[in-house]
Amino acid sequence: MKYISTRGKAPALNFEDVLLTGLAPDGGLYVPEKLPTYSAEQIAAWSKLSYAELAFEIVKPFVDDCIPQEDLRAIVNDSYSDFRHGAIAPLVQIDQNEWVLELFQGPTLAFKDFALQMLGRLLDYVLERKNQKVVVMGATSGDTGSAAIQGCKRCKNLDIFILHPYQRVSEVQRRQMTTVAGDNIHNIALKGHFDHCQAMVKASFADQSFLPEGRQLVAVNSINWARIMAQIVYYFYAGLALGAPGRKVSFSVPTGNFGDIYAGYLAKQMGLPIDQLVIATNCNDILHRFVSNNRFEKQELQHTLSPSMDIVISSNFERMLFDG
Ligand SMILES: *Cc1c(COP(=O)(O)O)cnc(C)c1O
Repeated sequence: MKYISTRGKAPALNFEDVLLTGLAPDGGLYVPEKLPTYSAEQIAAWSKLSYAELAFEIVKPFVDDCIPQEDLRAIVNDSYSDFRHGAIAPLVQIDQNEWVLELFQGPTLAFKDFALQMLGRLLDYVLERKNQKVVVMGATSGDTGSAAIQGCKRCKNLDIFILHPYQRVSEVQRRQMTTVAGDNIHNIALKGHFDHCQAMVKASFADQSFLPEGRQLVAVNSINWARIMAQIVYYFYAGLALGAPGRKVSFSVPTGNFGDIYAGYLAKQMGLPIDQLVIATNCNDILHRFVSNNRFEKQELQHTLSPSMDIVISSNFERMLFDG
């Protein structure tokens, strides 16, 4: 499988190279050249699979021949071994035709564990094989940092640096990030806001000359394709549990950078019968305004009680615009 940039002026990459990149050199985001698609019969044949087995089936064509299948199966199985619930993503019925998909059963309670547990293992596997070491760098308002550190803590071939705004993350998340023992884990508390952390990370990616010879930065925010890929799985898992492909399902998804709901959009493109995808936002509602008025306009950031959804522009939206 080849990956191309949404801006069309960067070389096509394979899965391994996409895994180790952030933005494409032309400023775009990498997307698969062509999505795998599945018939209703093929999807129905997955209905008895465990979460990890289903994850393997869905991830396989995206990884393609970059990782031998038995190794990939082991990586995927291991990625969900630290989850507290046997179903990994249990569905809980709350009303006649309404369910909650519990995406908080992972080690840090954030849904980001679903992707970052796998991303850390995929990175370590390809780096080990290439005999290469990289530096993971990211900014967080809480969720991403905790999940990225948990996902990378056993990786021998990378150092991880997470910037968070000093005294502006929750006490639970501060502890989740700063109490993980490991020589490769580095937390930086910056006096300022999340945006300052983000700006420093962006500047570091733009000019990596400060790194030692042979090192490069790797992104673990949702511009990394592998994160989106891993999240496609739970849309299929929930859909199958609720009677798809024989029955249509809809999802309402709390949205920030448009990574999670974009994975749902991809599941639909791949053949899952999704009726509606509801973009749930807080008052930082650029996506809601776009869908309602067809205008994609920046507004000043408002800080809320849901900081993971506090964004001015959702970067993954570019991936969907590219598709449209
Ligand atoms: C990351 C996160 C979001 C936003 O998800 P996106 O993939 O960026 O749209 C929303 N809610 C919580 C709790 C999160 O951790």
